[in-house]
Amino acid sequence: MILHTLGYVNVMSDRTKKLGEYDKEFVWHPFTQMKEYGDKDPVVIETGEGAYLIDTEGRKYIDGVSSLWVNIHGHKVPEIDNAIKEQVDRLSHSTLLGVTNPPAAELAKRLIDICPSGLKKVFYSGDGASAVEVALKMAFQYWQLKGRPEKTKFICLENGYHGDTLGAVSVGGIDLFHSAFEPLLFETYQAPSYYCYRCPLSLAYPSCGLACAGRIEEILKEHHDEVAGVIFEPYVQAAGGMIVSPPGYLKKVREYCDQYDVLMILDEVATGFGRTGKMFACEHEDVTPDILVLGKGMTGGYLPLSATVTTERVYSAFLGDYDEFKTFFHGHSYAGNPLSCAASLGNLDAFENNSTLHNLQEKIKYLEDELKEFTGLKHVGDVRNKGFMVGIELVRDKDTQEPYAPGMKMGWKVADLAMEDEVLIRPLGNVVVLMPPIGIPMDDLKKLLRVTYNSIKKATEENSNTST
Ligand code: PLP
Repeated sequence: MILHTLGYVNVMSDRTKKLGEYDKEFVWHPFTQMKEYGDKDPVVIETGEGAYLIDTEGRKYIDGVSSLWVNIHGHKVPEIDNAIKEQVDRLSHSTLLGVTNPPAAELAKRLIDICPSGLKKVFYSGDGASAVEVALKMAFQYWQLKGRPEKTKFICLENGYHGDTLGAVSVGGIDLFHSAFEPLLFETYQAPSYYCYRCPLSLAYPSCGLACAGRIEEILKEHHDEVAGVIFEPYVQAAGGMIVSPPGYLKKVREYCDQYDVLMILDEVATGFGRTGKMFACEHEDVTPDILVLGKGMTGGYLPLSATVTTERVYSAFLGDYDEFKTFFHGHSYAGNPLSCAASLGNLDAFENNSTLHNLQEKIKYLEDELKEFTGLKHVGDVRNKGFMVGIELVRDKDTQEPYAPGMKMGWKVADLAMEDEVLIRPLGNVVVLMPPIGIPMDDLKKLLRVTYNSIKKATEENSNTST
């Protein structure tokens, strides 16, 4: 097996070769066309250091998408490493059904301290999708317990993504991922995406007056009696293509939820833990949701852990005598896992010790200045970001906004070129995504941006005459 890198050809070590063979023979990778995967040389990531991932051949890559949006401070963070090591010596797991453990209790207190005011109770799960399921079931049962059993429906957004379990897919809005499962899903009301570059209402901000939010009100006006909640990703529809909402959207939807008495569920699985420049995206507009969903960055990108955080109002509806059966009958085996919760405490310690959010502001400013350069590229149609969540949308024709045909795999062409320059990124269709660890040192951020710029330029110039 031959390994192509940096323009020269290496002979792959026997170990990498063997691991690659095991991988290809036995592993089915998520969101991966395995027919194509088999044609490629494997990249076997073995270690991490700061913003870098290092493979079994010793090549160092900048972790340009935070190991799929989870990593926060970088790899090998002393606070998190030590928290896990110390916890392993005490206890690795004990159930949260009816008993507790120190990291789970302490973490819940610290999460409530940093969450928007009004949020009081933490329900733990493992992955983001599970925490979304919890949010949906919690909202659904809440209305039953409040004597409003007809409130069973959810409003969600086109281009929304909340994970891959069936409830989460039901409230998702990405046809490519979701349409195959249509017959298995429950019905929802879908409002338009807040996608200004390709406005589904053919309007322009700010003269639109946030008409996309207005559509939510129209649905509520007609159907609020049967709506349990509105669920969406605040400020950035991440998997939908790093689509950034215009300011004011969030607050407006909060007002509609209050006006029509439905629960507001904000999915901050991707946006949470500093990614948008504040600890949580909803802080940009001082909005407290009724249910906040957290995951991904919660452990700094170390271990699976998620949470569904809610208010006293929602929580107290579930209180009653044993035989009233108001209990929330939902739980996962590893809920509140002590190792994951210890990692999450280490993550919060690292935020404090490194003044992460404070230091991030300068990096966001630098990033935004540099991104202006990208808009000058011939095939860059839109450059958008909220904090460290960046989407660079490539188009075949800038004037008409005509997208590249999927078969051109333009996003992947860019990512493959970046890989040759030791930058690891993963696109979403024609959108080049950057979401480095927020703790990335400035020099590495500079390299990430330079390599991405050059890769876009090269990939689009090389393919500018191709039409398929
Ligand atoms: N919600 C949002 C906004 C996400 O971006 C994701 C994953 O990308 C999820 C939920 C699902 O999280 P997980 O992959 O941990 O199940």
